[in-house]
Amino acid sequence: MSASSIDDDALRAGTDGSARLNCPSCGSSHVAQVLGDNGGVSYVCTACGHSWS
Ligand SMILES: [Zn+2]
Repeated sequence: MSASSIDDDALRAGTDGSARLNCPSCGSSHVAQVLGDNGGVSYVCTACGHSWS
């Protein structure tokens, strides 16, 4: 059961560019991609609240 979950995560990490992101603060993969006012892209960790770009 858990093995299939790990495989699924690995597949998504290899095919979805946003899924491979990890928070530089806490290391969590729960990262949201947000657009800034200047058209740039920033990232926010939904686990610890750290944001970076
Ligand atoms: Zn974090």
